[in-house]
Amino acid sequence: MKAVITGISGQDGYFLSKFLLSKGYEVHGVLRRNSSMNQGTLGLLPNNIKKHIIIHYGDITDVNFLSNLLQKEKPEELYHLAAQSFVGYSFQNALSTYDANIGGTLNVCNAVKDSSPDTRMYFAATSELFGQPKETPQNEMTPFFPRSPYAVSKLASIWTVRTYREAYKLFMSNGILFNHESEVRGPEFVTRKISQSVARIYHGSKEPVVLGNLSAVKDWGYARDYVEGMWMMLQQDCPDDFVLGTGESHTVREFAQAAFKEIGMDLEWTGSGINEVGLSEGMTRVKVSREFYRPLESDNYRADYSKAKKTLRWEPKTSFRDLVKIMVKNDIEIMG
Ligand code: NDP
Ligand code: GDP
Repeated sequence: MKAVITGISGQDGYFLSKFLLSKGYEVHGVLRRNSSMNQGTLGLLPNNIKKHIIIHYGDITDVNFLSNLLQKEKPEELYHLAAQSFVGYSFQNALSTYDANIGGTLNVCNAVKDSSPDTRMYFAATSELFGQPKETPQNEMTPFFPRSPYAVSKLASIWTVRTYREAYKLFMSNGILFNHESEVRGPEFVTRKISQSVARIYHGSKEPVVLGNLSAVKDWGYARDYVEGMWMMLQQDCPDDFVLGTGESHTVREFAQAAFKEIGMDLEWTGSGINEVGLSEGMTRVKVSREFYRPLESDNYRADYSKAKKTLRWEPKTSFRDLVKIMVKNDIEIMG
């Protein structure tokens, strides 16, 4: 079996490539060139794994590149993970987010349709589509109300995929994935920002972590569990859409509390809004700044993943506590 992964240098590409290689797949990855030739998470894979991945340098905004790739490789499966994935950045750079996410997804769909219509495609949709959901928990039937340029781009993309699936009878499935994190999560995402700060404090730093909305509520799982769900979606008889999440909600404040607990610090919270602080033994460990608030918040998330559980037999394996532990422990080791 042959699979192509776009976004191989991101968090999910890291876990998915390892997972597919462990299943005996021939794994091909699309990698963007950059001036420092930094390979992102691909550079974190051990050499004995990395050497099995066949890299194709290219950009998803280039439809000719994608068509040629699919024409040549004709993979059984294509995992379209590449995107500008940071919500905060999308508020400042909406057009480039649309170009990469909407244009890129349209290009991938066209390349599949025209060059390799038997390829089964997974598209990385998101719980951000729900905006501020009016019902809890959220499942495949919950209405979409996107509240960021990122979410708008994923709305156009998921509907592009659904349209191509129906119009051209292609096997294209959408994973509506809730937040998933890991030891290779990008450093600007709140979980990794916290785990890295906690590790620095463990090693002697006195700098507090400065965050935005501590009360934002997300459903956080472990990325390694989720890539298995992506693969399961492509092993079904028919293409479909599936929610993957944990069914548990936590605030940013709770994530920070749990992360500091990993290094034996019990935070006490005092004040409110931008004056709230998290203290441990009289030292300020968490502060709030307007800088990290978004123009609009999307939260109150809790996944109802019962369809994936019933149809795919998928379930998250890693608890919230274990996720926090994995991330903090890894950052302590890296910085040690
Ligand atoms: P990352 O931000 O870690 O990875 C994104 C990847 O896309 C990187 O490899 C990046 O390459 C690549 N990329 C971006 N633009 C282009 C482009 N124009 N051409 C080629 N490659 C490009 O995201 P994750 O791994 O966390 O997420 C994977 C997908 O899942 C994304 O689409 C994301 O939006 C979606 N998603 C993620 C969730 C999460 O919680 N992680 C939740 C729901 C959906 P480079 O290294 O060069 O920047
Ligand atoms: P997102 O859910 O994909 O936007 O992932 P993020 O990790 O970027 O944000 C998760 C939540 O944390 C959002 O509701 C943010 O508003 C909230 N948050 C609070 N403080 C911060 C911060 O300092 N950085 C980031 N990235 N998010 C923060």
